[in-house]
Amino acid sequence: MASLRRALRGMAATCPRRSPALGRGLRPLVSGAGPTSEKSVPYQRTLKEAQDASAAARGPSQPLPGTASVVVIGGGSLGCQTLYHLAKLGVSGAVLLERERLTSGTTWHTAGLLWQLRPSDVEVELLAHTRQVVSRELEEETGLHTGWIQNGGLFIASSRQRLDEYKRLMSLGKVYGIESHVLSPGETKALYPLMNVEDLYGTLYVPHDGTMDPAGTCTSLARAATARGAQVIENCPVTGIHVRTDDFGVRRVAAVETEHGSIQTPCVVNCAGVWAHAVGRMAGVKVPLVAMRHAYVVTERIEGIQNMPNVRDHDASVYLRLQGDALSVGGYETNPIFWEEVSDDFAFGLFDLDWDVFTQHIEGAINRVPVLEKTGIKSTVCGPESFTPDHKPLMGEAPELRGFFLGCGFNSAAECLLLTPPGVHRRFHRSLTDHSRWIRERSHEAYAKNYSVVFPHDEPLAGRNMRTGPLHEVLPYDFCGAYGHRGHEDHAYGRLLGQEYSFSFPPHHDVIKKECLACRGAAAVFDMSYFGKFFLVGPDAGKAADWLFSADVSRPPGSTVYTCMLNHRGGTESDLTVSRLAPGPEASPLAPAFEGDGYYLAVSGAAAQHNWSHIRTVLQDRKFRCQLIDSSEDLGLVSVQGPASRAILQEVLEADLSDDAFPFSTHKLVRAAGHLVRAVRLSFVGELGWELHAPRPSCLPVYQALMTVGAKHGLVNAGYRAIDSLSIEKGFRHWHADLRADDSPLEAGLAFTCKLKSSVPFLGREALEKQRAEGLRRRLVGFTLDEKVPMFGLEAIWRNGQVVGHVRRADFGFTIDKTLAYGYIRDPSGGPVSLDFVKSGDYTLERMGVTYTAHAHLKSPFDPDNKRVKGVY
Ligand SMILES: Cc1cc2nc3c(=O)[nH]c(=O)nc-3n(C[C@H](O)[C@H](O)[C@H](O)COP(=O)(O)OP(=O)(O)OC[C@H]3O[C@@H](n4cnc5c(N)ncnc54)[C@H](O)[C@@H]3O)c2cc1C
Repeated sequence: MASLRRALRGMAATCPRRSPALGRGLRPLVSGAGPTSEKSVPYQRTLKEAQDASAAARGPSQPLPGTASVVVIGGGSLGCQTLYHLAKLGVSGAVLLERERLTSGTTWHTAGLLWQLRPSDVEVELLAHTRQVVSRELEEETGLHTGWIQNGGLFIASSRQRLDEYKRLMSLGKVYGIESHVLSPGETKALYPLMNVEDLYGTLYVPHDGTMDPAGTCTSLARAATARGAQVIENCPVTGIHVRTDDFGVRRVAAVETEHGSIQTPCVVNCAGVWAHAVGRMAGVKVPLVAMRHAYVVTERIEGIQNMPNVRDHDASVYLRLQGDALSVGGYETNPIFWEEVSDDFAFGLFDLDWDVFTQHIEGAINRVPVLEKTGIKSTVCGPESFTPDHKPLMGEAPELRGFFLGCGFNSAAECLLLTPPGVHRRFHRSLTDHSRWIRERSHEAYAKNYSVVFPHDEPLAGRNMRTGPLHEVLPYDFCGAYGHRGHEDHAYGRLLGQEYSFSFPPHHDVIKKECLACRGAAAVFDMSYFGKFFLVGPDAGKAADWLFSADVSRPPGSTVYTCMLNHRGGTESDLTVSRLAPGPEASPLAPAFEGDGYYLAVSGAAAQHNWSHIRTVLQDRKFRCQLIDSSEDLGLVSVQGPASRAILQEVLEADLSDDAFPFSTHKLVRAAGHLVRAVRLSFVGELGWELHAPRPSCLPVYQALMTVGAKHGLVNAGYRAIDSLSIEKGFRHWHADLRADDSPLEAGLAFTCKLKSSVPFLGREALEKQRAEGLRRRLVGFTLDEKVPMFGLEAIWRNGQVVGHVRRADFGFTIDKTLAYGYIRDPSGGPVSLDFVKSGDYTLERMGVTYTAHAHLKSPFDPDNKRVKGVY
């Protein structure tokens, strides 16, 4: 039997693309290239083996119902979890259709590792829920043991930076009651005697991590779901999705077609794993994921390995999973192999392992557990898995088709159940969701970086320049070799980004400081062309605006209002500005011709698709007769902010910019350097300033005129990192950070955006009223620190010696010269969080295990009376 070391040595000697093991004693389990039939996997039993002979015969395992409330497509980990949760939520008549047998896709051969700590509060919550279901609830419900093994998890740090990352996780874990310990190399050796700790900086030990068994978990999920009235039908491939167009022209799911008949249903959940793209295509829905081969090898018996925790050696990009008295060794390669064919008849199958690709893990594995050098390989497990452009799953209703939901793209993190807020798949702009090169490049980068340290300011390098703004070519950035540089020879952007890889203040701290102070002291120009820019017009636009927006936007034409959009739970789907338009018969890029009411909406760029999908869904549900027009690509947006902005703009705009003629929160069509633009007096940084929304071809000449005039006023270019710092200093919220779909505007201190004093109904109003009547169970609080210490979010918030929350967003404020942090706090007793409760506490913020004294603020410490936005300096 070949050992891991022999496999590695063999690599150097053998020709590419050939297993070093072949001809050297390691018995190939199946020979031949491409997908193979099933192989032995390291489990006692797969669901296939558990089938009796009659069930194995072709044909659906049960007769198909004529109708179903929901049809879940795919019986892997995600399909079973979805069906179980639907049943538990009380949804009756849900049906799961599996092409082959349960688990036959990717799930049957998963490694099943469950690590509770991740650098994301949402993921930590999901994982805690999964662990609860798998380790306790399912067994209580069904009497079946899911196969859960709580052997613990150990993260390896080979550098101080890596250990810092773990310490961040440890602090976050305290918020969710997840026990974890930072261990020294000596303590690690005592816990895991077979481990080499010579090159260790330290480790993070999480005793309640463990290992899931795919077959056991899916059997229990299916059993629990069917006991609650759901149906599981195997051997029943879905071959088509029927779509109907309703009286308002909206496309909706109508039925699912199979080889054995069809089922009428208004709702489908696509849990088809690597086949999700093909299932999406049946319905005209773009599913941005790619299939790749992902692998581990299983060793022979290792004396002394029993009961050891699972190990993640991030720096070596390797994991070691306890497999009885052996280990499974797997990892993330820099050069994964894409599975191009995604064949339909692949079931309980595996690929032959490509040792050229896998070998990079062996050195790291042997270094960590040296006994592996002399340990044989019992089997290889290389199967298909789906990966997405940002390594996060695709969940929620697809933007293109009502009733078509996604539950796929789990990037080897199938432990996350379907509990995230709705709409998280809407993070990709629709121009990119079927751009195969972009999906592929981004997914590849995300896969290769899966074990990299997660730095707060990291950016992907792949897939750049797919969408560019009107000022793209004149701004001095270099996205990996654009602008006269030959592609990928000059990596200036990558180099600059590399300097940001730090949990301290990075070198760019001073660059951002200059931009921020220039904005506060003179003026800064921001290119915000990536903002989403929509028009909402038509006979019912007024009614739609009343219902959609939490604030009263029914003001006279020329007014602009900052508002939120909520969901029915009162959660904040978006914050945006809405400008009321005067009707006009002539269409232009700055306003369409319309009858009835008209509004111009400006939303943050990263959330543009999310906003678009949310508004369209609400318009369809309420059957409002109005149009939503997307002008994001036709219009650019340049914003000038700061005390000198009026003097600069007065020379460029043909308009009176005095407070009387152009007050705060208003907008006008005006000429700028001869070009017609929409000037909006607003500020996202807390200064006197105007946004200029201009047709794309006008943006560059307008920007150049501003820079020419601005030179004598100290006008500087400033970027998004400056916006982040300036806006947190002013106490403005950032949607997706300190404001999300699971936060209500009352909790977020945005009650002023809610027309609760009026009697006008709006989406989310009932939930807000209930929340107000019952008292807020959590509240967003701002903190400043005396000590100049960098914070980025995820730090634990302590009040009077108890953890009460964690930081959602943090940054440095250069004018107040302090670190600022915002987070939601709860009362540990479970009661409402009153203002007195906030004010009366003594606070510290815990960063990497160290606590710092913090001061709570209910109003922004910078310009609390909002004088500057009104031009009062
Ligand atoms: C080697 C390896 C190791 C892994 N290790 C881990 C780990 O340690 N931890 C972790 O959390 N995750 C891990 N994963 C990932 C995890 O296994 C997957 O994310 C998960 O199993 C995917 O589940 P799924 O339900 O999305 O897909 P699948 O299990 O592939 O299920 C999709 C199902 O849809 C069915 N289907 C497809 N088309 C149709 C159709 N037209 N009609 C009806 N049914 C259809 C398929 O037959 C299949 O059963 C690993 C993956 C691999 C490959």
